[in-house]
Amino acid sequence: MKLSTKITLSLIVGIIFGVILNVFFPTIVPGLEQYVLTPVGQIFLRGIQFVVVPLVFTSLIVGFSSIKNSDNVGKLTLKILSLYIFTNIIALIIGLVTAQILQPGKAVDAINDTGTQEVPEGQSIIDWLVSIIPTNPFEAFSSGNMLQVIFTAILFVIGIHLVGDKATPFVSFVESFHKIIEKITLIVLKLSPIGVFALISSVIATQGFEIVQRLIMYIIGLILAISIMLVVYTLILAILKISPSHFWKSFLPTFGIAFGTASSNAALPVAMENAKSGFRMKQEIASFSIPLGTALKRDGACILQAFNALFVAQLFDINLTPSIIIAIVISAVVVSFSTAGVPGAGIIMMSTVLTAAGLPLEGIALVAGVDRLTDGFRTLLNVVGNVANATILDKWEAKDTKSR
Ligand code: ASP
Repeated sequence: MKLSTKITLSLIVGIIFGVILNVFFPTIVPGLEQYVLTPVGQIFLRGIQFVVVPLVFTSLIVGFSSIKNSDNVGKLTLKILSLYIFTNIIALIIGLVTAQILQPGKAVDAINDTGTQEVPEGQSIIDWLVSIIPTNPFEAFSSGNMLQVIFTAILFVIGIHLVGDKATPFVSFVESFHKIIEKITLIVLKLSPIGVFALISSVIATQGFEIVQRLIMYIIGLILAISIMLVVYTLILAILKISPSHFWKSFLPTFGIAFGTASSNAALPVAMENAKSGFRMKQEIASFSIPLGTALKRDGACILQAFNALFVAQLFDINLTPSIIIAIVISAVVVSFSTAGVPGAGIIMMSTVLTAAGLPLEGIALVAGVDRLTDGFRTLLNVVGNVANATILDKWEAKDTKSR
């Protein structure tokens, strides 16, 4: 059986199993969760985390040291960032319009009890920008901070270009290291169907029905906005003559893992593998833009922040003035770049957007209870956006090379 089929099946069976546990056997859920589902899910996630940092670092070095002209690195970065911002804005508009039409905040009755969840504190944008520069390369590797790893790799690539021939032994060493990590990744991926099954069934089994019912419009609205953006991506690809069916087929395992784990970082190793051997993307484009997108590209976060801000405004009967809308738009796009690729990262960033727009933070505690339920969908979109933009860049580059 192909990996994509196995992952899809394990998602479906995991959801059914979770529902059965939730509805018929709620008493055994805590024990099963603690002793079986969480450890199995964690073994898989930790295995993936093990390969992510060396994989990103070595593929950037391998991919970029083959580009002769270092100006190209700057050009590629500019192109991909402009694609990111363009598609982020589309996602944001979809989030705003869906929330405005569905009015999910009006569907929730009085908010006298906002649950027991604490409101998490977000990181400021300036702190985030400064933190991209690691104080030493090993800090980047050991903290697993993707942007720091990319930053370090790019500095190394510049160094390699400046050194010239003397850097050849280092590049050969990294190439060999890269091959080894690729093989380890394949071993870890063999665990993915079991890991995904454990993670998704535990999400469904532990979900409180009451809170889901109370926030049903919020959940439906978010999933709807995310689905619209998935359709938009499919259309953009079709317009650019990048076969959507080839795209969806090639990256199916990646998308299954993104949905099941709710972590863009966890989907990264599979995304690189699918890009090269499934989609047949150019090596340097895949090894540059997919890690970069894993760190930065979050259409799901744009939708979440826009949708959530409007939800909170509706909940507290706050009139949306143009200045509030502008604050939401700008902060949501900026915040989407700094949302980490781990489960629940979006909720941490909500306070930044709500504070920027002058909206009350109390709404966060309310929606935190159902966050994991929408997180899989958000992550799926984040990863679809990442690889779709990489395929667009791949096409753009191929065209530019031909016309040169
Ligand atoms: N879980 C998402 C991701 O990994 C981030 C989020 O919480 O929105 O992409």
